[in-house]
Amino acid sequence: MDDHALVLNAGSSSLKFCVFQRPNEKDWRIAARGQIEGIGIAPRLSVKDAQGVVLADNNLDAGVTDGHAAIDALASWLRSKWHGARVLGVGHRIVHGGVRYSQPVIMTRQILSDLHELIPLAPLHQPYNLAAIDAVLERLPDVPQVACFDTGFHSGHSEVAELIPLPRSICKSGLRRYGFHGLSYEYIASILPEVAPEVAKGKVIIAHLGSGASLCALRDGKSVDSSLGFTALDGLCMGTRPGALDPGVVLYLFQSLGLTAKEVEKMLYSQSGLLGISGISNDMRDLLSRREPEARLAVDYFVYRAAKEIGALAAVLSGIDALIFTAGIGENSSEVRRRICEASSWLGVDLDTKANANGESRISTAQSKVSAWVVPTNEELMIARHTWSLLGLMKPVS
Ligand code: AMP
Repeated sequence: MDDHALVLNAGSSSLKFCVFQRPNEKDWRIAARGQIEGIGIAPRLSVKDAQGVVLADNNLDAGVTDGHAAIDALASWLRSKWHGARVLGVGHRIVHGGVRYSQPVIMTRQILSDLHELIPLAPLHQPYNLAAIDAVLERLPDVPQVACFDTGFHSGHSEVAELIPLPRSICKSGLRRYGFHGLSYEYIASILPEVAPEVAKGKVIIAHLGSGASLCALRDGKSVDSSLGFTALDGLCMGTRPGALDPGVVLYLFQSLGLTAKEVEKMLYSQSGLLGISGISNDMRDLLSRREPEARLAVDYFVYRAAKEIGALAAVLSGIDALIFTAGIGENSSEVRRRICEASSWLGVDLDTKANANGESRISTAQSKVSAWVVPTNEELMIARHTWSLLGLMKPVS
């Protein structure tokens, strides 16, 4: 039986995973890619192989109410498919590495405990990321696990880009701008020399537009700034998070409305952004299909904020050579891409509307001063690369 390795990306209501197989000493190949969605509501398992052939697509027992139960459901599906196979390692996406962890690390109990302390800085992701490590540790205590951090790719920003302008004594405890979605940006930076060699060494803004959304400014393939900061609340409007907010608003919530810290946290992470503005949905596809003015306003604000932040990062880079779209909205919504490109035409983006509507890789005209691209992200592959290199395994080939 071939050896296996797993990549897990555990969220609050979903568990995304990739199964890699090693048919011989040299190669790792993707054997399956899938997710358990609707954890705690209507859990469903869907899995495809590397060619897109459906391996599983079925509802799960309603007992799959949390991350532990989701890992159990995944383990039972894996056993049914590859009974007796050895698991050589498990790689995880961890949203926040804090001051201490920017490079991928092999998990220890001490590191796990350090990462638990960062839960208040990423309550929407960190507890679920760490619960997956715990769940694997319980079931496969001898299998090495690797944590890969979403903050890691942004380490090395200039002092001024990292600064939070509060009193120094307060900032000493690690209060600085970290940036997130780093695994997505790192993957795209790694394939830019193939996809768009003419801009790979230049000044590039990547727009990761999904349920969470942010921008990254790249110079010569390295992150120099990001729209996200200390937590994953800053910058762009997101599915349920507001993006940049006047801090006075938060004071108002506490002082004038008398909300508690937990209530404010819930509002900022789960009730704002597209959902808060529209009162209808946090899902861009859903909002684009609706006629209600509130749905339109939510999309308008999403586009407005993205264009505004692109202008800010273009200033950081003193102009840009390319604008790249990725993640659920960036890869799939030609309408949102069109509107953001039109709002960025002053920078020199000249959209090729046909290429954009057809979902081509390059979506700007040949004469566009700034080229625009759609590049599908692959955070799981990036985690796999880090995991294999730390564990001394071969790199996956695809
Ligand atoms: P992600 O977090 O990267 O999985 O992205 C999720 C977001 O992508 C949700 O807001 C989806 O509505 C959005 N999305 C996925 N497909 C489409 C599409 N065809 N058109 C518009 N938005 C989409």
